[in-house]
Amino acid sequence: MKPAAFEHAAPADTRGALTLLAQPGAKPLSGGQSLSPMMNLRLVRPALLVDVKRLPDLRGALEAADHIRFGAAITHAEIEDGAVPDPSNGLMPHVAHGIAYRAVRNRGTLGGSLAHADPAADWPGVMAALGANIIALGSQGERRIPAEAFILAPFTTALKPGEIILAVEVPRLPAGARWGYCKINRKIGEFAKAIGIAIERPRRLLAGAVEGPPTLLESVDDIPTRLPWLDAAAQRLSGIALQRAIAMMEAA
Ligand SMILES: Cc1cc2nc3c(=O)[nH]c(=O)nc-3n(C[C@H](O)[C@H](O)[C@H](O)COP(=O)(O)OP(=O)(O)OC[C@H]3O[C@@H](n4cnc5c(N)ncnc54)[C@H](O)[C@@H]3O)c2cc1C
Repeated sequence: MKPAAFEHAAPADTRGALTLLAQPGAKPLSGGQSLSPMMNLRLVRPALLVDVKRLPDLRGALEAADHIRFGAAITHAEIEDGAVPDPSNGLMPHVAHGIAYRAVRNRGTLGGSLAHADPAADWPGVMAALGANIIALGSQGERRIPAEAFILAPFTTALKPGEIILAVEVPRLPAGARWGYCKINRKIGEFAKAIGIAIERPRRLLAGAVEGPPTLLESVDDIPTRLPWLDAAAQRLSGIALQRAIAMMEAA
């Protein structure tokens, strides 16, 4: 199917983008890897696509002593290839490599993935596990949203109307801090059925791809109480993903 008719604009800066996004029916476009299929299926019919992927403020990575600030339009491939610095001792490049296939990774962006808020996606859980902050930009300026509070429900985020994701600030893991990442899916490159993430120093366990926001856990035993809406089989899958992630971390 083809999308409903729409206008396309490529503003030169974030101020221009925010002005355009204030129009009724306007929507940001980054890599188009989730938005285009949704438009083709006519699940969304934006009147205006505001292209944000080349905005200078959404590109590049700024290094600070304790974190790296990634522009929202950094692609999965740039993270996979090490074109941007890595604060996560290899976790982010490892995750990027497992997203879809290269053509999707060349276009799909970190910010687009977070804004889309698919529970089966990789970045929402990883950013929550790393304790990242999402930097939202609106007409009132910037605000900082902890990644673990960013996704409110499937395909629903804490962004306010007219706001865009400007950047993602990811704290640096201490040198030598280990991690484990387990994505359970039917075929390599597919969306996950369950994701388990284990990080050490500080120790954080996270269950992702659980039909809801990524959920921080104290232990694998927490799953039935923290994810009570999952049926028994899905709880078991989350438990397996988490146990494998812990084993991978301990073996690293
Ligand atoms: C075949 C296939 C397989 C895939 N497999 C995986 C997978 O295994 N794991 C995974 O995690 N993902 C997977 N994806 C999704 C992929 O990672 C997308 O790139 C990503 O979800 C969306 O990023 P995008 O930049 O393409 O965003 P777009 O498609 O451009 O936009 C997605 C949504 O975010 C909004 N948006 C975009 N940028 C911003 C911004 N800066 N601020 C606010 N809102 C914004 C748009 O308006 C839209 O609502 C797959 C996609 C495909 C097509």
